[in-house]
Amino acid sequence: MAGEPQADCLFCKIVKGEVPATVVHETETTYAFRDINPQAPTHVLVIPKVHYPDAATLAAADPQAAADMLTAAGEIAAQEKIDGTGFRIVLNTGAGAGQTVFHAHAHVLGGRGLQWPPG
Ligand code: 5GP
Repeated sequence: MAGEPQADCLFCKIVKGEVPATVVHETETTYAFRDINPQAPTHVLVIPKVHYPDAATLAAADPQAAADMLTAAGEIAAQEKIDGTGFRIVLNTGAGAGQTVFHAHAHVLGGRGLQWPPG
């Protein structure tokens, strides 16, 4: 069923505690943990607990869960004290854009200067 946990999904396994992660934030609908391969001094992944393959699909199917993910991203930026200097929320969508884990997630990046355009 749409949104249900997927047995072969890495991020569903992290939500269930089957794969360890350094959790920094949790709400009723979201879970956030440090990226295993950080690209900035702060690099946190925030995910919906429901399973959808990417952020756009999540937003179409469950707009409240997508909004909750963005709200959590802002709370994490404040918690990590990167909100004052500026931070980036990244939603890689599709393999061609660099998405490698097909469970919706937002990258929260900060703690260094961030260039534009991104690579
Ligand atoms: P994507 O490339 O799909 O936008 O982002 C997936 C992110 O998940 C990557 O930045 C990658 O480093 C991170 N990642 C992959 N496997 C693991 C893992 O087992 N644990 C954690 N914490 N992050 C992971």
